[in-house]
Amino acid sequence: MKTILVTGGAGFIGSHLCAALLRKKYDVICVDNFYTGCKNNIRSLIDNPHFEVIRHDVTVPLSLEIDEIYNLACPASPIHYQFDPVQTTKTNVHGSINILDLANRTKAKVLQASTSEVYGDPQEHPQKESYHGSVNPIGPRSCYDEGKRCAETLFFDFHRQHNVKIKIARIFNTYGPNMNCNDGRVVSNFIVQALRGEDITIYGEGHQTRSFCYVDDLVKGLIALMEADDDITGPINLGNPIEFTIRELAEHVIQLTNPSNQIVYKDLPVDDPKRRRPDITQAERLLGWSPRIPLQEGLLKTIHYGS
Ligand code: NAD
Ligand code: UDP
Repeated sequence: MKTILVTGGAGFIGSHLCAALLRKKYDVICVDNFYTGCKNNIRSLIDNPHFEVIRHDVTVPLSLEIDEIYNLACPASPIHYQFDPVQTTKTNVHGSINILDLANRTKAKVLQASTSEVYGDPQEHPQKESYHGSVNPIGPRSCYDEGKRCAETLFFDFHRQHNVKIKIARIFNTYGPNMNCNDGRVVSNFIVQALRGEDITIYGEGHQTRSFCYVDDLVKGLIALMEADDDITGPINLGNPIEFTIRELAEHVIQLTNPSNQIVYKDLPVDDPKRRRPDITQAERLLGWSPRIPLQEGLLKTIHYGS
């Protein structure tokens, strides 16, 4: 029986990942400081004798005996990671060092939840793993973008210097149940606004694009990457390659919830990426993975959770 550590396990993706690993009969330890995560996300897992929760901040070293680590600890929504940007950088940099030290000592395999944000506001489209990105190092998104880039550097240096077994997943916009209603990201904002009969807030003109992956698909990709051969380190893009404008997303949500909702336009945040779509050729070829759940179906499941 493997013992698996999931940092950020009480968050949106982490809670689905813990549930999926428990279904595979592993022992799961969830470490979380509950900054954006919540107990409600893991309530249904608490009585499982193979599940443990530790309230802990990954910027502080920790000592556990484990076989695998999924390092998800880090706020992912722009409003939350920009609220305390110094802590965001610390979580990515000090947190990664602590987790990699733990992996090195225990000889555990460790997977880093990296992000499409390492590509910044991309000049190449769609984004392949070989693209080095276009990132502003001093803007409001930098604590997250540069923090995640530095984390990738640390993962590869621990791999080359100490032979730590690493896996890096570059996750593209993911959505689904267990997103906090005040998360601030676009899918949860639109659904919460639509269900409350409030105006739908599009930032800018809504021509910017994103590609939305349903959380169950993403979790399958993370586990496939962890369980793949050790020489498959990544970085590897995980996301849905079907691209939508934010305006199209708003129209879908309105159509599925409350057709009388109005759209209002607000200022576009600084450095907001204009286009984003993953090239998932590597995930298809190396992991046999591709997302299955279309946007319409995933939105309906998420709306059902929110209502
Ligand atoms: P989330 O905010 O719901 O979850 C993050 C979790 O990490 C929360 O439970 C939070 O309390 C915890 N956390 C934050 N800082 C911590 C710290 N210092 N110590 C311990 N725990 C801490 O976000 P999510 O969407 O579930 O994202 C999970 C991971 O996936 C993040 O690393 C994020 O960067 C990455 N990611 C997510 C997306 C996405 O679209 N959801 C896209 C790209 C990358
Ligand atoms: N966005 C929007 N309205 C909202 C929240 C977000 O128009 O209420 C836009 C945001 O400006 C960005 C896109 O939706 O262009 C995705 O934003 P999100 O915060 O979900 O993720 P990220 O920018 O990190 O991809």
